[in-house]
Amino acid sequence: TQAHVDAIAEARALNAYLVETPERALAMADASDARLAAGEGGPLEGLPLGIKDLFCTEGVATTAASRILEGFTPHYESRVSENLWRDGAVMLGKLNLDEFAMGSSNETSAYGDVISPWRRNGSDAAIVPGGSSGGSAAAVAARLCLGATATDTGGSIRQPAAFTGTVGIKPTYGRCSRWGIVAFASSLDQAGPIARTVRDSAILLGSMAGHDPRDTTSVDIAVPDFEAAVSRGVKGLTIGIPREYRVEGMPAEIQALWDRGAEWLKAAGATIREISLPHTKLALPAYYIVAPAEASSNLARYDGVRYGLRVPGKDIVSMYENTRAAGFGREVKRRIMIGTYVLSAGYYDAYYVRAQKIRTLIKRDFETAYAEGVDAILTPATPSAAFGIGEKASADPVEMYLNDVFTVTVNMAGLPGIAMPAGLDAQGLPLGLQLIGRPFDEETLFAAGQVIE
Ligand code: GLN
Repeated sequence: TQAHVDAIAEARALNAYLVETPERALAMADASDARLAAGEGGPLEGLPLGIKDLFCTEGVATTAASRILEGFTPHYESRVSENLWRDGAVMLGKLNLDEFAMGSSNETSAYGDVISPWRRNGSDAAIVPGGSSGGSAAAVAARLCLGATATDTGGSIRQPAAFTGTVGIKPTYGRCSRWGIVAFASSLDQAGPIARTVRDSAILLGSMAGHDPRDTTSVDIAVPDFEAAVSRGVKGLTIGIPREYRVEGMPAEIQALWDRGAEWLKAAGATIREISLPHTKLALPAYYIVAPAEASSNLARYDGVRYGLRVPGKDIVSMYENTRAAGFGREVKRRIMIGTYVLSAGYYDAYYVRAQKIRTLIKRDFETAYAEGVDAILTPATPSAAFGIGEKASADPVEMYLNDVFTVTVNMAGLPGIAMPAGLDAQGLPLGLQLIGRPFDEETLFAAGQVIE
């Protein structure tokens, strides 16, 4: 813990941590030592972790990387982080993210960009760590924690993991409690870990997961021994390769990476089969209707009364307006406007209801593949390697949204997905592959992920 506390202090230029909690960390580490000396101790005893600043932490500021939560200190702990402390983990601090987890590069944070520890060969130009869990991914990659919590609404665990050469798993919707996690799009949001290895991610998810009556969408199903699944191998498994993920303009090196991943699984005893997920191309536009719609509703609670920032006005309505105008950043405002528009009378059927129908079709595509004997699906995690800071932020927002083309399908269908490093691009930046599993079958993802890693 001391080594990590020191490393964090030396790596502030990365801007990965928003809040450092060294005193709490060292006190927790001492308590861990005492438990271990007494022959006690949980499965994560003494392991120093970072917490994405979307998880409420009792007595420690929680910002969601937004000005609107300035001054908010929760008096409760998220269920997922509570589970980690129950098992002996140590909290190093709170990690930067895109504001309210909206973004794919960590450039929408109100507290500044996170810088990836990676660089292109022969270049000093700063690279994005991906988003929205950019602080989590950068901190794990830069050895500023042993593992981190993250959340994934449309790729925010898997895309930053792919960009930083780390492992990230979004479990099945309902596997982890959302209680105490700042809500973005409630029907899509799931917590999961970012870690250095598939095994580490299995161990962390084992602690984070579990039924919680305080979240009605949390499923009452046993948490398997994920760590045991890591070494299970892939003999006898059928891995699907969905032809619709061969998107137009995909760089040759991504196609080559994907082919190589399939070869590795085949060499380890899996059968590779081409499959079709026909509604894939509708997932991204439908996601960018459903997610903003739910966000506009969830973000209505930030009114200057209940949490954080308040900017006074001449009456209560102008106080709301002033607070929200000053407290939310550009991307968050864009989402609120899109969400409000697609939910409004007259447009609701044309956009929101239509997007929900597409969501059902996407889910059915996966159900059909699984019913036909596919155990997991292999795809690239992202359409490219990480890009430079500022390279895409100022461009058309749709350009940024295109990053999520391979990851949003998984959230729309509520399925588990893991991203693991599979190689480097021509410029020396990490590239990741993604495995998508059956509902509540994270074990197969750990087994197959271990073969690829
Ligand atoms: N990049 C996507 C978005 O901006 C996904 C974000 C996420 O998964 N939290 O909505």
